[in-house]
Amino acid sequence: MPQIQCLPPHVADLIAAGEVVERPASVMKELLENAIDAGASAVAAEIEHGGLTYIRITDNGCGIAAEQLPTAFLRHATSKLRAAADLAAIGTLGFRGEALAAIAAVSRVDIFSRAVGADMGASLHLEGGVPGGTEPTGCPEGTTICVRDLFYNTPARMKFMKKDSAEGAAVAGVVQHLALSHPDVSFKLLRDGQEVFHTPGDGQLLSAVYAAMGRDFALSLLPISGSGGDVRVEGFVTQPLSGHGSRGKQVFFVNGRFVKSQLLTAALEEAYKNQLLKGRFPGCVLHVTLPAGMVDVNVHPAKTVVKFVSDKAVFDAVYYTVLDALNAEKTPKKAGNEPEFFRKMTAQEFKARTAPAVEEKKPLGSFSGRPVAPATKNLVRDSVPAMAQRSHSAETVYVRDVAAEDKPIVTASPLTGRTYEITPPEKTAPSRPRPEAPRGEAPVQEALDMPAEPMQQTMEPVREAPWRMVGEVLKTYIICEDDQDTVWLIDKHAAHERLRFDALKANTQPLMAQPLLTPVTVELEPESYAAVLENLTLLQEFGFLCEDFGGGTVLIREVPSDILAADAASTLEELAQKLALGRTDPAAARDELLHTMACKSAIKAGMTNDAAELAALVEKVQSGEILYCPHGRPVKYKLSKYDIEKMFKRA
Ligand code: ADP
Ligand code: MG
Repeated sequence: MPQIQCLPPHVADLIAAGEVVERPASVMKELLENAIDAGASAVAAEIEHGGLTYIRITDNGCGIAAEQLPTAFLRHATSKLRAAADLAAIGTLGFRGEALAAIAAVSRVDIFSRAVGADMGASLHLEGGVPGGTEPTGCPEGTTICVRDLFYNTPARMKFMKKDSAEGAAVAGVVQHLALSHPDVSFKLLRDGQEVFHTPGDGQLLSAVYAAMGRDFALSLLPISGSGGDVRVEGFVTQPLSGHGSRGKQVFFVNGRFVKSQLLTAALEEAYKNQLLKGRFPGCVLHVTLPAGMVDVNVHPAKTVVKFVSDKAVFDAVYYTVLDALNAEKTPKKAGNEPEFFRKMTAQEFKARTAPAVEEKKPLGSFSGRPVAPATKNLVRDSVPAMAQRSHSAETVYVRDVAAEDKPIVTASPLTGRTYEITPPEKTAPSRPRPEAPRGEAPVQEALDMPAEPMQQTMEPVREAPWRMVGEVLKTYIICEDDQDTVWLIDKHAAHERLRFDALKANTQPLMAQPLLTPVTVELEPESYAAVLENLTLLQEFGFLCEDFGGGTVLIREVPSDILAADAASTLEELAQKLALGRTDPAAARDELLHTMACKSAIKAGMTNDAAELAALVEKVQSGEILYCPHGRPVKYKLSKYDIEKMFKRA
């Protein structure tokens, strides 16, 4: 029978270490929290090789008395928690009393500390948790801890470490979050000798945001402040025009603790409903404060999960506070403001305002289809010259004149540069002389068909094509009728997205890339940044040529030829987030990337497209090749003649 034995202390320490110390970022988090708990007003963190070989943290906090130094490294040694009852009101950040012991167990540690008011400091070296002797040392008040060769004695754990870049980015994320939750403390982060950021510690959240998340982001923010019941909400949200391609710039804190919460994300995004373009996400740095009894932060010590006693109270407080701020922004405060301007904008105006216009648009009407005024009655008369009033208004509706040409039409989309070849339905009866027919030799029948009064001709469309594109409404839905007396509404974006997705999925070659005139820089969240750096080759296969620009920024030099330069940054942001999320399942991640690429390269609702392009889409949809968009939404809606007759009470 096996003997029951107590584990030797260093084995127990190693097991405990596994729970507390997962990667360099967790070491950083514990040590920074200790520094904050020690009342430091300035903390400098330094890492090398993603923190795997070297982490050093210096604070100007209360310090540790020389005789207490070895005690601090004992398991369950803490100055912060005395009884189980204290768990209910955890004021300090760390409270388990095992961080230092756990970190020391899996690394080589040097600590230098001088307690406030003490004449001398002291130092201690620990190797795999085993302390040497305490030595008197001259050092400033405060504490410096240096952690070298993390996991040197636990090779199994070492195997789980990602590349230095990924670990370093995770460390940067931790420092960033602590800097944002403690604007009154100055945080400096150095990575491989280079300063990543340095917050002033002036107590202003915006200063911390500016320093830790970048200038562009900070300048795009609106302050918000409000409360609902006991729930207080404070911080900054992005203006609707500054939406991001991913949720990476949403940072939430609950009672000072960084959390990831679907509830908070949902409350934030609900407030932006109808104010942000689809596929764009608001960013924020939000502090939610509520009584300790209304939230359980102890769901898991190392995880960033919280449970609220009342989800609704928290949701409402965040939702209404954000909504109020957005509404206040829309109300004109002084003459010259544009109230509600973002509501009125079309997708094109949005693009024009927010992105550098690098692609030249083809002039409207330079294709075979003809723009006509959008009066409803015109939609059914697609071959009436009199109807072909040129209209360049935003409401222009393109109607394809199927009879105007009998050669394949090769047309390039003004928006995407893609070319389409459209062959008009062969059996379509020409309704006017063919362009290449010699003068005076137009077939008699056709000459006779030329209407004296244009209206009459369209009353009896002579047509045997299986379908006819009638036009487009709301710049989103193509109307089409088939020879079975059925009317179809086709969602052009959904249909094109599916087409792009299938094509991308079938494609085995790297995508065609186009160099950008000016490379675009993208500030990424640490996790996304790391994901991009890890996947530079994969991204290149997808047509994105990127380079590390340092400090969380990536430079995009080339984008796939069917992605607008203006969409380069948001597309990469979205790809990076999917890569960061999909680390565990590369195949699923690939499909996710294809979704993004398909969505970004597809024509969008609100865009003006040429008729030939739309007709090509209709062809794919009507042939049954496309049924659903890659997200599973239908691409077409059927209205039978009977449905319509019922609407008019004819049937
Ligand atoms: P905990 O933070 O849960 O108390 P730790 O193992 O992280 O446990 O730290 C043990 C003790 O060491 C702390 O309670 C604190 O008294 C002391 N300590 C750790 N880091 C610092 C620091 N940077 N400055 C002052 N005291 C510290
Ligand atoms: Mg601690």
